[in-house]
Amino acid sequence: MDVAILGAGVAGLASAIALKQIGMTVSVFERRGTVHNLGAGIVCWPNATFVLSELGILDELSTVAGGVTSMRRATHNDIALGTLNIRDLDAAMGFPSLSVLREDLMRILLEQVEQCDIPIHYAAHATGVERVGDACRVQFADGSSVSPRIIVGADGRMNSVARQYITNDNQPVYQGFVNWIGIHRWDKCVFDCLEIRDYWGVGARFGIVPVSSDTAYWAGGIAAPESFLTNDSNQIAQLRQSFRGWPSQVGDIVFSAANSNTKCVALYDHDPVPCWHRDNVMMIGDAAHAALPTSGQGAAQALEDAWFLAREFAALPNDPENAMARFTERRSKKTSGIIIGGRNFASNLFGSDAEACALRDRNAQQTDYASLVAGMATGWSAGLPIGG
Ligand SMILES: Cc1cc2nc3c(=O)[nH]c(=O)nc-3n(C[C@H](O)[C@H](O)[C@H](O)COP(=O)(O)OP(=O)(O)OC[C@H]3O[C@@H](n4cnc5c(N)ncnc54)[C@H](O)[C@@H]3O)c2cc1C
Repeated sequence: MDVAILGAGVAGLASAIALKQIGMTVSVFERRGTVHNLGAGIVCWPNATFVLSELGILDELSTVAGGVTSMRRATHNDIALGTLNIRDLDAAMGFPSLSVLREDLMRILLEQVEQCDIPIHYAAHATGVERVGDACRVQFADGSSVSPRIIVGADGRMNSVARQYITNDNQPVYQGFVNWIGIHRWDKCVFDCLEIRDYWGVGARFGIVPVSSDTAYWAGGIAAPESFLTNDSNQIAQLRQSFRGWPSQVGDIVFSAANSNTKCVALYDHDPVPCWHRDNVMMIGDAAHAALPTSGQGAAQALEDAWFLAREFAALPNDPENAMARFTERRSKKTSGIIIGGRNFASNLFGSDAEACALRDRNAQQTDYASLVAGMATGWSAGLPIGG
């Protein structure tokens, strides 16, 4: 059975490998000239590393990734709010949590795609999906088209043509904050152990995720109107102003930030939808269930999609429409919970009422972090053959 995958992001490349592993004929169509690295880095939590192991690339990833040990939360003036023990999470789920630069993750996925002899067509910008007779055809900007047996839309959160065909609406929802993101390299060892730092302010948050003793990716977020990225203000100056006086590592980062090594992105997600397929077209990854970065699970859920999709197609090789229905049924509850969880956490973090933020911080100090970790392990393992 031949499958055309639209988009060479995490979901598209991982699905290409997983579907090829079960003997399907796969081609990938990517609108850009190369594989793209939106975002500076990712924590591959244990549900993600389980899938990476099934795809045969966990060992390779481990050579460039960092084994994160804990996540320390603190206020913007470094008052401790509590620490999540990531080693306990890993022990409960049976796989490691690894921090990795996005460029390394994408390179390793791409190398595996190439090793599997899966063709990637670059500069192939899908402009629409239309029904012709019994099945659908993908139209590209250069006038060409393809009519495979199955079309998998892994074409991201912002303007998915697959989502447009399936739901008639692909508009993402702006969630009221922007993130500056980047990678910072110190000229000395600054992380004795790979502890994630998560600083909370009023309407602002700064996260630092080490991938080695001297390198970290980071994200600084502030509440902002949707017009923030299109106004004329000096964004690097705003970044520095927003995090002035925060802990010293934040200072190191924002004062060496420049337009050349920093990106600012506005954060959108999608309302959960119950149906992810129509005719012979389905959507996966951010196209189907984009969650905010505050969920910490966007890439992990894209990877899980690849694993589940291959299992459902393998179980029903002669009935792909039913396989797509079963896939959606298995995936939608978990991903909907993650979208809503990401939104709730974001509204807590980026609320600009000082009293509400003080209450949030007191609640964080009283949190039972061992129970929180146990809940994360249960939720993130759901549906997978991992964990207790
Ligand atoms: C700032 C930021 C930080 C994040 N941090 C984390 C994190 O720490 N951990 C985590 O797990 N997740 C994180 N995420 C979420 C994560 O990046 C996504 O959930 C994940 O990459 C989803 O992958 P995807 O393949 O579905 O979509 P994408 O990565 O968006 O890939 C979509 C691909 O489709 C291509 N495409 C789009 N339209 C077309 C078209 N019409 N024709 C052909 N190709 C097309 C695009 O060029 C792109 O290559 C973050 C997201 C953001 C925005």
